[in-house]
Amino acid sequence: MRIVVVGAGLAGLAAAARLAARGHAVIVLDKGRSPGGRLATRRIGSATLDHGAQFFTVRSDAFAAFVAPHRASGLVREWCRGFGVEDGYSRYAVTGGMNALAKAVAAPLDVRTSSMVFAIRRAPTGSASTWEVVIDDGTVEPADAIVVTCPLPQSYSLLVTAEVELPVELIRTDYDRTIALLLALDGPSSMLAPGGLQQPTDQLSFVSDNRLKGVSTTDALTVHANATWSEAHWQDPLDVLTDALTVEAAAFIGSASVTAAQIKKWRFATPRTIWPEPCWTSPDGTLVLAGDAFAGPRIEGAVLSGIAAADALAG
Ligand SMILES: Cc1cc2nc3c(=O)[nH]c(=O)nc-3n(C[C@H](O)[C@H](O)[C@H](O)COP(=O)(O)OP(=O)(O)OC[C@H]3O[C@@H](n4cnc5c(N)ncnc54)[C@H](O)[C@@H]3O)c2cc1C
Repeated sequence: MRIVVVGAGLAGLAAAARLAARGHAVIVLDKGRSPGGRLATRRIGSATLDHGAQFFTVRSDAFAAFVAPHRASGLVREWCRGFGVEDGYSRYAVTGGMNALAKAVAAPLDVRTSSMVFAIRRAPTGSASTWEVVIDDGTVEPADAIVVTCPLPQSYSLLVTAEVELPVELIRTDYDRTIALLLALDGPSSMLAPGGLQQPTDQLSFVSDNRLKGVSTTDALTVHANATWSEAHWQDPLDVLTDALTVEAAAFIGSASVTAAQIKKWRFATPRTIWPEPCWTSPDGTLVLAGDAFAGPRIEGAVLSGIAAADALAG
């Protein structure tokens, strides 16, 4: 089959890798400049910062098998076994930043970045394919089957033209937001090894020292506001957000000075509800929706959903 996967986050990449291994002709389209989606890493000067997902855990055999070659190559390594208190469960980080894992999975695949899908529609009667995927530059990719892995509100908007009846509860899935502050520092922060803290204040969900984590060669902090704060301050101007979150993170910045600051807003950070199945398949079996809203709001969930989507199409 010729299969188009929309979205090169880990759900789309996991689906594409599995389908390509089975001999299907697969292309992956993503609107971003790099594959990875919420597995995102940014450079600010000489600093490297993970600004989406910070680490991952491995709970299932299927995800362990997915990660195994990347652990063997040294790309994926244990960061720590808990933040503050060790609980024995490994938290994994990625050498060079989380986005490097997505790039490694994408490398052997036909991934086309800067390709925003505009609409998905049925191919005209009599044509050789089942679907047409319309890209924002006007090109149309024919497909026998499609896997759509965007956050659900974005997937839904692509499918308005697809003549597919989606379950109402699926369409209504909402997402928490995250506002991230990225700080380059002129010296060490006040954080201690391993360099990560969950819910460090009433308004923050995570603070990470990217140098202590082994991602950055220079000092840099990632500060995530929690869902409540992010929603309440979503419309604030960038300088107001920067100032407020810098004050909130002052105890972690310590005596270092901030040399550069950037804000990144994640509108679709965390699905609020999880669909009971690991993916959703259209009645004719040619369109599958997948992503972390199906198998759990984390990297492992995205991968498991992508694997399930590939299996739903390819049997
Ligand atoms: C701030 C933050 C912190 C997090 N922390 C953790 C953590 O510590 N551990 C953990 O396990 N998980 C964490 N997560 C969650 C984890 O990142 C996600 O669960 C996972 O990456 C989702 O993968 P996905 O493939 O389902 O979706 P995404 O990664 O969102 O991929 C969807 C892709 O679809 C693309 N797309 C959307 N619309 C279009 C279009 N029209 N055309 C083409 N492409 C399109 C997007 O560009 C994107 O690349 C965090 C997430 C955020 C935002």
